[in-house]
Amino acid sequence: MIPGPFSYHRPSTLADAVRLLASLGDEARPLAGGHSLIPMMKLRLATPQSLVDLHGIDSLRGIRSDGGAILIGAMTTQHDLIGSDVIARSLPILAEAAALIADPQVRYCGTIGGNVANGDPGNDMPALMMTLGASYLLEGPDGSRTVAATDFYQGAYFTALEPGEILTAISIPAPSSGHGYAYEKLKRKVGDYATAAAALVLTMSGGKVATCSIGLTNLAETPLLAEDAAKAVIGTDLDEESLKQAAAAAEAIMSPSADTRGPVEYRKHVGGIMVMRALKRAAARAS
Ligand code: FAD
Repeated sequence: MIPGPFSYHRPSTLADAVRLLASLGDEARPLAGGHSLIPMMKLRLATPQSLVDLHGIDSLRGIRSDGGAILIGAMTTQHDLIGSDVIARSLPILAEAAALIADPQVRYCGTIGGNVANGDPGNDMPALMMTLGASYLLEGPDGSRTVAATDFYQGAYFTALEPGEILTAISIPAPSSGHGYAYEKLKRKVGDYATAAAALVLTMSGGKVATCSIGLTNLAETPLLAEDAAKAVIGTDLDEESLKQAAAAAEAIMSPSADTRGPVEYRKHVGGIMVMRALKRAAARAS
């Protein structure tokens, strides 16, 4: 339970952080809230030789509207998301999902940047970011680039982040007003990761589903976008048959591992139920 030795650095600008990571080499890692990285270090599952703490960089914090998008700094905490007026007005699903992460102590420290950059299939924000069509703004030794959340996740703990790159912000297109949303998560107890979870954003027109986007958490090595499940409900009034078809289409792309949260078939079944519950709740919220 004691981490290996490491050097600690606390730059105060993004440029210094990028320079430091480049000079310290591949064994250096950015440190955000530390609520995934430090436990991994204590278990010696991660043994970085240097940590570059991002807490001194003010420009990495904050939430603001930016044209038709919402821009969220990487060091914005889960607690900040829950209390933000901008999020409550434009992206309420983000506050709903953040409130289902762990417990208040974790949410005070855990950041949205750390949550999406971590690459743990159990993290709740990545599938939600895919559902919302988010993009990640990255800064590295070779300059800036933007990667769509849908292109970011390559395997458990493998992402499109290059060594030395820092995720600086997340840009999320604001969903249309009147959209319905729901984040449904089954967990064994408060503080646990999802047995299965579904993120859902839709619009309704004339009592029928007009647009729909569905993401799945902890049901494969990476977060999933359930495109066929979404197609199964577009144009329907969410009758029982279309709900079942959406659940079946979502289950078809799931490949969870059997673990202490249950066997594979159970977790897939629960995943389908999360999709159906999220569809019903999102439709009831849409106007
Ligand atoms: P850190 O732990 O500091 O970093 C995580 C990884 O991301 C590291 O590899 C780090 O180098 C990298 N990183 C961090 N920031 C950046 C950046 N800006 N650019 C590039 N790389 C970066 N999470 C959930 O989603 N759902 C849960 O139910 C849940 N339950 C939890 C329960 C407990 C008891 C605990 C301790 C944690 C739980 N978490 C859960 C994890 C928590 O949300 C973490 O805070 C989050 O996964 C990582 O965010 P962080 O800011 O703590 O990042």
